[in-house]
Amino acid sequence: MDHLLPPEIADADRAFPEALAACGDLDALLRLKGAYIGREGSHAARLMDLLKAAPKEQKRDLGAAINGLKNRWEEALKARQAEVEAARKATGAQLWDKSLPPPLPPRGALHPLNRLMDRLVDVFRPLGFHVEEGPEVETEAHNFDGLNIPADHPARGSADTFYLAGHPGLLLRTHTSPVQVRTLKNLAPKILEMGGIRFLAPGRVYRKDEIDPTHSPMFHQVEGMLVGHDIGMHHLKGTLEYALRALFGPTTEIRLRPSYFPFVEPGCEVDVSCPLCGAKGCRVCKGSGWVEILGAGLIHPNVLSLAGIDPAEWSGWAFGMGVERMAMMLSQTPDLRLFFENDQRFLKAMGGLD
Ligand SMILES: [Zn+2]
Repeated sequence: MDHLLPPEIADADRAFPEALAACGDLDALLRLKGAYIGREGSHAARLMDLLKAAPKEQKRDLGAAINGLKNRWEEALKARQAEVEAARKATGAQLWDKSLPPPLPPRGALHPLNRLMDRLVDVFRPLGFHVEEGPEVETEAHNFDGLNIPADHPARGSADTFYLAGHPGLLLRTHTSPVQVRTLKNLAPKILEMGGIRFLAPGRVYRKDEIDPTHSPMFHQVEGMLVGHDIGMHHLKGTLEYALRALFGPTTEIRLRPSYFPFVEPGCEVDVSCPLCGAKGCRVCKGSGWVEILGAGLIHPNVLSLAGIDPAEWSGWAFGMGVERMAMMLSQTPDLRLFFENDQRFLKAMGGLD
């Protein structure tokens, strides 16, 4: 039957075993496959044309010869491909498919704590709050004096506060509240034309705490402040209720408990109904159904006077919340240190924070 095949095909068939053995990788193998049994321009394609043109009485024998040849080539190519792939796996080399788009480098993302602070800002922005920032190296005047913190207050001691050696009066701010002092002073001359002041101050703060699962010498706070006419506790409570429901869900309840901070009068601590168990009681809320979330109060008249704002004319409220504490609760992360170790696996898992 083979005598029916054209001589160049017989040549190609004789050269086939050697060409096949020379294919060291999949690319070479695919090229050889194209040349022998490809849909167009291959030896097999030429044979099919030949078959079509052959006289009727030759068709059966020629057809059988062509099929036999094609099948033999196909089987041999398949077997060689299995060998090449096995060899590639054994050496651990990667298959490189030139037709695929290149792999993109992993994309960076904001840190979960930044995202949570952004989220807080987003809640307050529609209420007319803008963002204020201040330096992390502060003066005692801004960090303590301007906030009505007495000279003998324990927070001023070097056991709690990082003072800058060789720079008397300078320290790492212990809260974001000095931003209140700076902003009130800056905006005091414009307060009438602005009709009041409202801003958020997110940022880093520093305290001399040993690092443990719930403490860090560096952490984040978000401070909020509003100054206007006839501002009272009802206004503070209404705003916090709105904001905390936006953060934790529409069925969230809040409660205010009396507390003391030198820069507010009266002061309070604010709890939210536990967003994790729906106030039924769980590990996070220690079975009480409530979680303490922030400290707040009406701005002390002394703080307004010190900034040059008349407390007889103006009143306001302020609050401050710990960002790590809230992030730990929302993500049920038991150890604060995880937020600072920059383990990519943890940071990726924290995608649930927004
Ligand atoms: Zn709970």
